Amino acid sequence: MEFEELRQLFRDVFPGSSPPECCRAPGRVNLIGEHTDYNGLPVLPMAIAQEIRLAFQPRDDGRITLSNVNPAFPTVAFQNAPKIPASAAGSWENYCKAAVQGVNAALRPARLAGMDVLVSSTLPMAAGLSSSSALVVACAMAYLRAVGVRLGDDLSRLALAELLADAEHYVGTRGGGMDQAVILNAVEGNACKIDFFPLRMENAPLPDGCAIAVCDSTVKVNKSGEALHRYNAGPRLCALATALVRRQLHEDFGEEVELDRLGDLWFGPLCLTHAEAEELCMRAVDKPRMTLAAIAARLGCPPEAVRTRWLGDLPEPPDGFPIQARVRHQLTEYRRVEMARDALLAGDAESFGALMNASHESCAHDFEISSPELDALVEAARDAGALGARLTGAGFGGATVSLIYEEDAGAFIPAVTEQYYRQFLRRTGTPPIFIAQPGPGADYVA
Ligand code: ADP
Ligand code: MG
Repeated sequence: MEFEELRQLFRDVFPGSSPPECCRAPGRVNLIGEHTDYNGLPVLPMAIAQEIRLAFQPRDDGRITLSNVNPAFPTVAFQNAPKIPASAAGSWENYCKAAVQGVNAALRPARLAGMDVLVSSTLPMAAGLSSSSALVVACAMAYLRAVGVRLGDDLSRLALAELLADAEHYVGTRGGGMDQAVILNAVEGNACKIDFFPLRMENAPLPDGCAIAVCDSTVKVNKSGEALHRYNAGPRLCALATALVRRQLHEDFGEEVELDRLGDLWFGPLCLTHAEAEELCMRAVDKPRMTLAAIAARLGCPPEAVRTRWLGDLPEPPDGFPIQARVRHQLTEYRRVEMARDALLAGDAESFGALMNASHESCAHDFEISSPELDALVEAARDAGALGARLTGAGFGGATVSLIYEEDAGAFIPAVTEQYYRQFLRRTGTPPIFIAQPGPGADYVA
């Protein structure tokens, strides 16, 4: 829905209101650097043209009412408060509650304002394009207006991105900070390499003539609903790996060494080289698989404590947890992101594509976040002439990204349609593929 129509509709949905303001927040695709952000390791995404659009109007009484042009999402209202009770897992209003509570906690506004909000979207949901974070960012931007905070003046975009990365944990998904950072800071025409703790961004355009083909596998994954546990397995095993590495450092140095996440190995007081970090990690996690009993023995605590602190209710595979492979993905993916940034700066499409291919293999075999559909779709994209192709986002379903020459799109789309959608999925109709160029970040709309 265009903004003019959205403004009109707002006045029907909220009768008696004055003309609303509007804002927009785009989705994103990650080009390389998967499941690295929550470890404090870099990523390289770009914003896309599809977006969440909001019309909104502040209120004085602290009441927040959310309405949606999509009838699948019922209108909900709740009272603003320092601690807002969450709705059932998977409920759409939780993304707005996350934003409001996060802004409250970080900025402590003098008055907990309310707002009427009408949501519209051109961004497919649960397709790995980060509709969740786009919704969180858009709601936060609306709420900032309600509490009189000017984005870019009173609060930087980087600071808002950082606080919203924490805030989105409210919905139960333990994501890192990539999505909010790129959604808020993307610059049209550029992909961006993002580093964390502290958040830093560097822009780089795609190689000349190139575009990103985004293909939806059509397998939906709701990361705060039924797929929550599969998604959170990555962060949990990485946090456990961090504890094992910390233990190793303790043994090496005979004293406690601060290590909040794997990425801290390269930064901060340790400042290891890649080779040193790899050597240390492979000593800390020296077996392909570790049972709960072996992990507990290594950490010197009871198995129940390992569950409470790190693993939660993650089921134990018969031959133990594959922690070493998870760590290997982090180590190799970090290197690939650095090389991918260099390839972009050099305009080297072939190298960038080869790194995307290698990233997919690592995601599939070492991090185990692929699926038969994603593997088949990536293969179809490569067969159709992509310079590189990989899953993007959380994995298990959602979309793939392929680097192509834009002039080849006319041949790429029918070839992938035939091999994946027709033959593999036995599906007819318009294929869910779009060709993307890096778009601009979120903004208010005059
Ligand atoms: P992704 O971020 O990959 O799109 P998630 O599972 O993280 O997938 O988030 C999808 C959820 O975000 C949806 O189930 C819904 O609750 C919420 N959401 C996204 N877009 C909208 C929208 N336009 N209207 C209402 N809720 C939305
Ligand atoms: Mg999401």
